[in-house]
Amino acid sequence: MVRRLVVVGASHAGVAAATAARDAGAYDEVVVVGAEERAPYQRPPLSKEVLTGAAEPAQLGVLDQVTLHTGMRARGLDPVRRVLVTDAGEVGYDALVIATGARPRTLPAIPEALTLRTYDDARGLGAALAGARRVAVVGAGFIGAEVASAVRSRGGAVTLLEQAPLPLCGLVGEDVAQRLLALHAAHGTSVRVGARVIGARRAAGRVTGVELADGELVAADVVVAALGVAPDTGWLTASGIALDADGAVRCDDRLRTSLPHVLAAGDVARVAGHGCGHVLTATEQGRAAGMNAAGADEAWSPRPFAWSQWYGHRLQLVGRFHGLATPALIARDEDGSLLAVAGEADRLLGVFGLDRPRQVAALRRVVGEPGSWERALEQISPAPAPIPA
Ligand SMILES: Cc1cc2nc3c(=O)[nH]c(=O)nc-3n(C[C@H](O)[C@H](O)[C@H](O)COP(=O)(O)OP(=O)(O)OC[C@H]3O[C@@H](n4cnc5c(N)ncnc54)[C@H](O)[C@@H]3O)c2cc1C
Repeated sequence: MVRRLVVVGASHAGVAAATAARDAGAYDEVVVVGAEERAPYQRPPLSKEVLTGAAEPAQLGVLDQVTLHTGMRARGLDPVRRVLVTDAGEVGYDALVIATGARPRTLPAIPEALTLRTYDDARGLGAALAGARRVAVVGAGFIGAEVASAVRSRGGAVTLLEQAPLPLCGLVGEDVAQRLLALHAAHGTSVRVGARVIGARRAAGRVTGVELADGELVAADVVVAALGVAPDTGWLTASGIALDADGAVRCDDRLRTSLPHVLAAGDVARVAGHGCGHVLTATEQGRAAGMNAAGADEAWSPRPFAWSQWYGHRLQLVGRFHGLATPALIARDEDGSLLAVAGEADRLLGVFGLDRPRQVAALRRVVGEPGSWERALEQISPAPAPIPA
């Protein structure tokens, strides 16, 4: 009997799971089923190099001794017969890893709004941006900001529309968020906060503007929805697997789901209460799921790390700023770079760097350790400025 591991989803989490299980040597066959037509590729460059036309995304991982089916979509899972149902037929499994990621949320008020998740999305959006006079991006999180930055790098006009009073405030704290708002302004991106989109104005069947709840009309011939993502689990509804209210697959810290022999990893999963949303987490979870499917007993614990790239600047975020007792401190240079830290008691719990990769790397190693707040203060010196309340 051939022992087979099936991985559903051929991206950061799925490739990490497949290669870890292959290297562990516990299966005769490792099969990856991916809905996209392309071989797995790095997703972060889509909103950076691909959108600006600067480069193609690099391929992801080396899939030797792995059977990769691209352009094949999973439609259902029968946990009793241990069968994955795909649009090309059934595939039996001994163990299965769910790594189907997430889909972008759409903007029902404007069905024409474009979204960005896949290589094909990036090519389509890049072509639309090339022919646009004015672009409106709804949602000023990391992806929305990267799209705005890509528009500006092409010399286009762009407005970021954000419902919250201060974009990214919950992630990076108020002071850093204010600085990021200023970064948009410095690069010619117009940002409207507190903006609730209610519909579009059209002429001759084409969008000419975005209507806001306060009656304002924002001129735009291309609209992009950057509203976050929802776990891609529609295909699992009849399987009986436990899902959270938002559709995420519920897992324990070993990446085990409620179904026997079925694990999950990456943006599709909620592991021990933690969401994913970033490449590093997806890769780490995928690796642990692959190892555990091969008989290991590896726990995953969160090490939140995100990065972004706006207007040629590098943003890095480690840990969290939200809800911390120790006031965040910030150090800035005349060159516009900045480093911000936040903590609790004697522990450093959050680090944000704008063009400070070396300091972020140094502090990242000690985040969460006792006494790490002292180390953070050393990096912040000589001129710490408390963040105004
Ligand atoms: C434009 C963009 C920029 C980003 N930039 C950054 C960044 O700078 N830094 C960072 O850390 N993170 C970034 N991210 C987030 C990061 O890419 C994701 O967290 C990561 O891709 C999650 O990996 P995943 O494997 O869990 O899911 P995904 O990458 O979403 O892959 C899931 C795969 O499963 C496939 N699939 C879905 N349903 C099925 C099905 N039924 N059958 C078969 N296959 C299916 C999908 O087609 C997809 O290929 C970015 C994301 C985007 C979209």
